[in-house]
Amino acid sequence: MNEALVASAPPTTPPFTAKEGRAVVKSLQGTYPTIYPVVLRFTSEGWDSILDWGETRLAKRKGKKVFLISINSTLCHAGQFMVLVHEYAHALAWPATDKQADAEKFHHSPEWGIAEARLWALVGDEKPQGRAF
Ligand SMILES: [Zn+2]
Repeated sequence: MNEALVASAPPTTPPFTAKEGRAVVKSLQGTYPTIYPVVLRFTSEGWDSILDWGETRLAKRKGKKVFLISINSTLCHAGQFMVLVHEYAHALAWPATDKQADAEKFHHSPEWGIAEARLWALVGDEKPQGRAF
């Protein structure tokens, strides 16, 4: 990824709506389900800089564990999609120890890389600017 994906570059497609983002997650879950449900949010708050594009954390919703994937809402559509695939790979490759600290320790592990490659093999044939992905 490069800085061209940041919002300062004129977007050719509007950023994802929350509904569109959830549809992408639902589609990914159909082929590559995660051990906990994924809750997706687009937000411009909580980032240290505009180069912070997304994160995946364990969280609780209604007393149950979920993967909370946050995407920087200031990114353009293509940037948001790339970050979503990247972050979803973190959820797929979540360490068996189930600890946030271990997930950070093995942040971009070979397992994560394989998970991301699988996701790109799945979505790579989609039109880059398509609204489904
Ligand atoms: Zn990452």
